[in-house]
Amino acid sequence: MSKELLLNGEQNSKFRLLHPYTPNILAESVIDEQVWRSFRERNIGVVLFDYEGTVAKTDGWRVIPGLRQRIESHRQWYEEHNPGRKFYEGGVTNKRPKDWITFIKLIALTRQVGAEVCFVPQDSWQRKPSSVMPLQAALYFDSDPSEMAVIGDKASGDVKAGYDSGMWTVWTKRYGWEDLIGDRIGRRPPEAVWRRILEQNPHLLLPSPPRSKAAERLKNKGGKIYKAHEARNLAWSEDKIPEELIDLSGGLITGYGGPIVLLDPDVEPLSLSKRIKESSLYDWWNSEVSEHGGDWADRITDWRLRLALVDAGLIILEQDTAAQIVHGIVQLTDILDGYLARHSKRGATKEGGHRDQRNDKLASFIVGLALVAKGRKPLKNFVLQLVRDYGMSEVIRPHLEDNGIDTKALWSGKLSTFGAAAADNISISAIADSRPEFNRGFQHIATVGKAASAVHETLTWPRIQQIRERDERIAKKVIERLRREKAA
Ligand SMILES: [Mg+2]
Repeated sequence: MSKELLLNGEQNSKFRLLHPYTPNILAESVIDEQVWRSFRERNIGVVLFDYEGTVAKTDGWRVIPGLRQRIESHRQWYEEHNPGRKFYEGGVTNKRPKDWITFIKLIALTRQVGAEVCFVPQDSWQRKPSSVMPLQAALYFDSDPSEMAVIGDKASGDVKAGYDSGMWTVWTKRYGWEDLIGDRIGRRPPEAVWRRILEQNPHLLLPSPPRSKAAERLKNKGGKIYKAHEARNLAWSEDKIPEELIDLSGGLITGYGGPIVLLDPDVEPLSLSKRIKESSLYDWWNSEVSEHGGDWADRITDWRLRLALVDAGLIILEQDTAAQIVHGIVQLTDILDGYLARHSKRGATKEGGHRDQRNDKLASFIVGLALVAKGRKPLKNFVLQLVRDYGMSEVIRPHLEDNGIDTKALWSGKLSTFGAAAADNISISAIADSRPEFNRGFQHIATVGKAASAVHETLTWPRIQQIRERDERIAKKVIERLRREKAA
């Protein structure tokens, strides 16, 4: 029995569930010699790069130094050893061109990598770890997945996407300290543990790309590639990127002047979210929200105050269960009015946002007052939370806004609001009577959380603004350069 079979079959079997997250090799970075040696050994003809955290820092503009030399020497090697064939590199990034700055950033990165095309998700369900983008690349480059490689810094994203597509996978360390907050908290810690295990047990690394059902279906079924000029009419994006920028991009980004690759439905089974999106009910809902969403948002914002009064009444009358249900509805309306306002054609207005915040604070004031009156919420916590909310909405936010700094809620603010609502929910429930120390503990945590988020937001808003201004400056320079190149 060959060593390969043994490794894939027996020795490794207890980690079978983790195979999709197990790369073929581990590397420090995308420019490691051993990465490119492995590409030569496997005769890799297409390399698909993750962008953020792999070839560039998260939110960065520059590609890691030395990458181009690596790519060029591999290209030379490949084309020498495979006469008549060309080596290709592509981008597979989860980043979507949400605005013109991000769009320009994707072009800048794609050009620095020298990639033929950069695949961006058509929809949220196409994001890695979905294998859709790597398979689209296989179809586009007319290459066999077993001769392709995916290289990225996330096992649960890049490696899984490559594994499911039957490609050679490389797991690099994150390039740069920058990271998205959700990844930093939710994905990096478990991935770090898994990486440690693999580093100490290199025999667990998969010796070859897996057999992939999706890749086999792709071979038999294929799909369709729409060229840039056709793609323009097919462009899926609701994100409005100015026509001039799409023209300047030279068709590097899929769907934005670049090709669109549609896999056969048998290759790319319709996901639940896609099926929902294709249903007529969804169309109806969207048009309703677009048409009347703004009015509904206003109405719901107003209703929140009345519901808070009802909630306070129920608390005073000691109707715990009913009070908890109403409290839950109050929280839901907060999520709902934001959604409706953003998805209506009127859009989220500044005025609406302010009213929403004001009513939020008023609602929690009314409920909090009732809880204090019934001795269910410590007065100290009530006052501290009140001072914090008042200070943020009446002093700090207006001051920053006056200085042109955007103060939309950050993750910390949302989290602490959620935490405070949860703590109030405990205070409303019977737990407050049966386990008063438990109740007080939660209120303390909520209060500390609110204070911490106030500090975090106050320090972070100006920094976000600075980064935005920097990005805008760089993006404008890149555009100038693209214009000059086009004129020449
Ligand atoms: Mg990444």
